[in-house]
Amino acid sequence: MLRGTCLCGGTSFEVHGDPQGASVCHCSQCRKQSGHVWASAHVPEQALSITGPVRWFAASEAALRGFCPTCGSLLFWKANDEDTISFALGAIDGSTDMTLERHIFVADKGDYYDINDDLPKSEQS
Ligand SMILES: [Zn+2]
Repeated sequence: MLRGTCLCGGTSFEVHGDPQGASVCHCSQCRKQSGHVWASAHVPEQALSITGPVRWFAASEAALRGFCPTCGSLLFWKANDEDTISFALGAIDGSTDMTLERHIFVADKGDYYDINDDLPKSEQS
């Protein structure tokens, strides 16, 4: 089981089951909300339990973005038409035992950095 916490500790979550799809998202929404890029993996919604407050922001009609209302840590991403939820790899306390698998939405990436690893890249999702 993985456990994650926001920066202030007011919101925490537990991940049960086997997270999939560890990726780095370069889309403009993740870049704006995180300040750079956002790394996440996903599990079935029922495999993630949240303790503490989460503010959900609909950046588009497709998904909700969940963050701590006190410190602003971006913790979750949830597509409206999927039964999975993504959680921030950077919020996990201790080892994740995961390795990034790919970069997504690289068409939207910033011009101030290069992607220098050999992971697969997709222009969009
Ligand atoms: Zn917080």
